[in-house]
Amino acid sequence: MSDTTRSSALGSTGASEIFQLLRDGAPRTRAELAAMTGLARSTIGLRLDVLAELGLVGPYADAVSTGGRPPSRVALVPSARVVLAADFGAGHVNLALTDLMGVELTSDRRLIDIADGPETTLGGMVTGADALLDRLGRTRDDLIGIGIGLPGPVQFSTGRPVNPPIMPGWDGFDVPGWVRRHLDVPVLVDNDVNIMALGERSHAWPGTDHFLFVKVATGIGSGLIPGGRPQRGAQGIAGDIGHVQIPRGAGVVCHCGNVGCLEAVASGPALARSLRALGHDCEGGRQVVELVRAGNLDAVQAVRQAGRDLGEVLTACVNMINPSVIAIGGSMAQAGEHLLAGVREVVYQRSMPLATEHLTIVPSRAGDRAGLMGASMLAIHHALSPAAIDELAAAV
Ligand SMILES: [Zn+2]
Repeated sequence: MSDTTRSSALGSTGASEIFQLLRDGAPRTRAELAAMTGLARSTIGLRLDVLAELGLVGPYADAVSTGGRPPSRVALVPSARVVLAADFGAGHVNLALTDLMGVELTSDRRLIDIADGPETTLGGMVTGADALLDRLGRTRDDLIGIGIGLPGPVQFSTGRPVNPPIMPGWDGFDVPGWVRRHLDVPVLVDNDVNIMALGERSHAWPGTDHFLFVKVATGIGSGLIPGGRPQRGAQGIAGDIGHVQIPRGAGVVCHCGNVGCLEAVASGPALARSLRALGHDCEGGRQVVELVRAGNLDAVQAVRQAGRDLGEVLTACVNMINPSVIAIGGSMAQAGEHLLAGVREVVYQRSMPLATEHLTIVPSRAGDRAGLMGASMLAIHHALSPAAIDELAAAV
């Protein structure tokens, strides 16, 4: 049978349907796949041939040989392609290549200035991606998708930033369009906190359906995954809790132009400013964490109070979306339990009892890898979707 005949005989959705069953990485026999789909084993065999030709699926080698005829099982080949994950901050970008299960293969951290604008900044990402591919002995042809996290609001459907406060020149910029002119694979762009939420959930809370991730660093934001699906809102700024007004912020001007925002009193720079006022040598959030670790009481109290301030806003979130897990990450979470103690103090006291009965408030476990993991998940989810696999299979 010629390639053309085989493709048309199978229809376009056949291979992708089988592939979705193998995406979890577990090996399966043809009989198992036939039972799961109700298809004839011969049909399964033809569809697996297409996936094998793409290199996405292959024979599974059992670790222990029992002698005799080995069981004939097939599984996803995680190394078949690679995914580029890029997690941008204001002054750096973390880059990684992962396999198709999201396992990091190699990574790099490059210094950038996001205020240099999109072309310079993304150009640095493309150069960095080539260097990482080189390091693995792979080429641009091995790339199947790119996930990017940016430190500002992003309209997810188009990948364009929307009025990002610290990113001059980026407003409305077609990030996927620009990147695809250099690396021609699907490009997914999201807000950095949303990708951290995705990464944290997949790393530490994969079965949790009502998940809230909070980042406390230079800014404060949250990523919502209620019902197991990321919620970004109409303009991509859902979860932007940093600019909610809190009572203790009265009279404090925020960089957003409003007064009394959570971020203006509880972020790393805000805490550093209040500690400087008490006579401490404290330049920014990192020094606040160092003072806390050194047992400085002023710093401990300031971080605990920041936790209470955050708790005020999270109390409203808890009553609104009823999460079962709140994970707190970002550089200020490295100040240890003090931040969380302040959050718990207020949330457990002030939220509805039914909402807190089964609520867990924990530090991030993925830490500074959460963003990269989430960016990779985002790209993999798209690149291995039924529609994307159909497209690849149609070209076989
Ligand atoms: Zn503000």
